[in-house]
Amino acid sequence: MSCVFCDKIKEIKRTGSCNDFIAELKNSYVILAFGQYFKGYCILFTKDHKEHLEKLPEKRQKDLYSDVIKAAAAINKVFKPARMNYENLGNITHHIHWHIIPRYKNDPNKKQPIWQIPERKRNVKISEKEKNKRIALINKYLNKGK
Ligand SMILES: [Zn+2]
Repeated sequence: MSCVFCDKIKEIKRTGSCNDFIAELKNSYVILAFGQYFKGYCILFTKDHKEHLEKLPEKRQKDLYSDVIKAAAAINKVFKPARMNYENLGNITHHIHWHIIPRYKNDPNKKQPIWQIPERKRNVKISEKEKNKRIALINKYLNKGK
């Protein structure tokens, strides 16, 4: 069965990057999410295809969580959101991943998880230049902590 994150891992291993690649962390990869309705929204996923966080050895769970927090800290430094949302779902794409979503002061949907905002609204496309700028900024802060 094909997996969107395994496809990205293959591409990263083959070329050293992928279209939305931000960084390789100790236990995961970080990419800029396609929809940028929430400026700086990123996705972090494990380096191999694992589906159940609770079935991983405890140390690996903690190490992954440490990566999640590093990514969130970098997003926070760059975009200065009011809050950060973390979502680890896996209902559709089973490969373990987190949505790391900055939420801003003027957010009209504060009480709602992002999924309740229609996808067509969330899928804000940004220019290639703006995308690369966001990727570079987040990458810079992620690499500072190394
Ligand atoms: Zn996978």
